[in-house]
Amino acid sequence: MGYSAPRGTVDILPGQSEKWIKLEQLLRTIAANYNVKEMRTPIFEHAELFNRAVGDTSDVVSKEMYTFQDKKGRYISLRPEGTAGIARAYVENKMYGLPEKLQKVYYMGPMFRYERPQNGRQRQFHQFGVEMLGVESPYVDVECMLMAVTVVEALGLQNVTLHINSLGDDESRDAYREALKNHFRGHLDELCGDCKARFEKNPLRILDCKVDAKHPAMKTAPKTIDYLSESAKEHFNKVCSLLDDLEIDYVIDTNLVRGLDYYSHTVFEIISDDPKLGAGATVGGGGRYNGLIEEIGGPATPGVGFAFGMERLLLALDDEEDGLDCYIMPLGEEAKDLAMQIIAMLRANGFTCEMDHVSRGLKGQFKSADRFNAHFSIILGEEEVKNEVVNIKCNHDKEQEVVPLENILAHIENHLNGGHEHE
Ligand code: AMP
Repeated sequence: MGYSAPRGTVDILPGQSEKWIKLEQLLRTIAANYNVKEMRTPIFEHAELFNRAVGDTSDVVSKEMYTFQDKKGRYISLRPEGTAGIARAYVENKMYGLPEKLQKVYYMGPMFRYERPQNGRQRQFHQFGVEMLGVESPYVDVECMLMAVTVVEALGLQNVTLHINSLGDDESRDAYREALKNHFRGHLDELCGDCKARFEKNPLRILDCKVDAKHPAMKTAPKTIDYLSESAKEHFNKVCSLLDDLEIDYVIDTNLVRGLDYYSHTVFEIISDDPKLGAGATVGGGGRYNGLIEEIGGPATPGVGFAFGMERLLLALDDEEDGLDCYIMPLGEEAKDLAMQIIAMLRANGFTCEMDHVSRGLKGQFKSADRFNAHFSIILGEEEVKNEVVNIKCNHDKEQEVVPLENILAHIENHLNGGHEHE
């Protein structure tokens, strides 16, 4: 009996990892386009940070965190999400004091949640997230949403809708919380144990409950949007009109409250009906969290951000693999020595190359060239070695030519640049 990977984790093997790199590069390019810089924070943090920042009434913290005591008895958690670590680092590194008030950062990497593994749910998964800290403005909310939409569009996802809602400011949330309590008070006996606790601590979470999702009282619950203060209403209206001006399609989804405790004002989700993901899949979401930085001991600082599940984004990418430039095919020991020279020269010139290391015949080597989807096969038999030439076959147009050793590079470059005047 060998070992198996822990439940809910997966190995990313060669063949798959190329797709990950492609996705990561695309995300980094979009981030640069929006002037968003990368920030890397630890994979583990003090458990208390997540209890505080994400909130101990959220499922993510109360049920799904990987928490353990280290050798000194400290409670440590593997990060279940990225925002808390970024917020902690922002405060600890006094980024609020930087001359540029708006700090825009992104992160990508593994997150850990002890969930029941199922289609699209893993215990170690990856997120790409963006946080824009320091400025309270509907323009920044919209910049954030626009960036999230740019990502899904760049991936070519079809039928994407931006769902938005507003939870309002403290004043609106207080009024709404009261309204929710009045609404659910008469149904408390019919709700699950968790919801009973949520009723006291954070009644908003009741709306997110998976157990009670079908209870009729959920449908008739009051809507956040009806309890917005004047200034919260103004903020939300501005967000909507900016989206209108930019011709971004969106729907106002009054049931959207999001699973984490720190949101205020704008919340949003990106939902896609692309067949690659399955109907109504949430690709990612986010929102504004004006109370978070203060909550963890920093100065009052507004923020807005979003996170995408990278496994889901990956489903959108096609499987097309990039091929090699050259596959070198030596026949015989002497040819192998020469092949090492040629491959080193080609790689030094930036070409992606592989050669046969298992001394197969021509047929076996052509199979590898095929599997690697090589643009050129460079064949060196005994004759070629003796005459100081190689046989270069372009696997695209099937043209084959004998080329002197010193002309290999020129021949390949010329061919790739579309020139077909063969030397
Ligand atoms: P959340 O931080 O819960 O808002 O999640 C943001 C996104 O991360 C979700 O929309 C999913 O795409 C992804 N995600 C969350 N949990 C998991 C998980 N256990 N496995 C895979 N993806 C996940």
